[in-house]
Amino acid sequence: MLYTNYHTHSYHCNHARGTPEDYVRSAVERGMQILGFSDHVPYPFSNGHRSGFRMEPQEHRVYVREIQELQAKYQDRIQIYIGYEAEYYPDEFAAMITNINQYPWDYLVLGQHFTHNEYDGIYAGGKKAVEEEHLVQYVDQVIAGMETGYFSCVAHPDLIRYRKDEHVYQREMRRLCGKAIQLQIPLELNFLGLSSGREYPYEPFWAMAGEMGASVIFGCDAHTPEALNDEETYRKAQAIQQKYGLRVQETLTLRSPKKGTPQ
Ligand SMILES: [Zn+2]
Ligand SMILES: [Zn+2]
Repeated sequence: MLYTNYHTHSYHCNHARGTPEDYVRSAVERGMQILGFSDHVPYPFSNGHRSGFRMEPQEHRVYVREIQELQAKYQDRIQIYIGYEAEYYPDEFAAMITNINQYPWDYLVLGQHFTHNEYDGIYAGGKKAVEEEHLVQYVDQVIAGMETGYFSCVAHPDLIRYRKDEHVYQREMRRLCGKAIQLQIPLELNFLGLSSGREYPYEPFWAMAGEMGASVIFGCDAHTPEALNDEETYRKAQAIQQKYGLRVQETLTLRSPKKGTPQ
């Protein structure tokens, strides 16, 4: 039984189906106690770049208001949080934080879908295997993101597909896991990857995370309301948990240092 989920999308990001309320209903039906929304954050890029897979600026206010209304409406049945899934883009991060600080929010999930600043990097979630330099850059950026203190967990840390040299993979991912352990930031075992047969969860990564003793959180990465109610995928995740002795925590410590501008 999954009681919490902090990785939830909605129609606001333009590639997920259903309103926030559809997701709340599905979570309540399953008997969940905590549902966090983490739609792809609006990123006000300095050069006007548009992502296509994230909330547009004009959706932002509606997203927050809808979730606030749901918090009130369902307060006796489920705890609901306002969050975002965001990349750490060094040149754009501070402006993104300033932008989301216009409204209340509870937490950020670090989902590093691109390297550098998106418009000048590579897509980390591609089907094509990447080179060592891209893996190193990805890990550097996930670590820098964790070090900002803004992120409560790392979504699909094993998203990037580097398969050339297992020693290099282990070396780099050990850096990522080690930093997560040091900063007590859980790593997410991603259900969307599991249910849609993606390259992640990548078992060698989880073998290492288990051996190192990293904290793990399950994340539905729901892009449909039904994904919150998918027992088969939950059982697959539990099998991985057992196989590698993963320490799974149910609730997240929410970090939202709202004061000041990040460096
Ligand atoms: Zn998405
Ligand atoms: Zn996601």
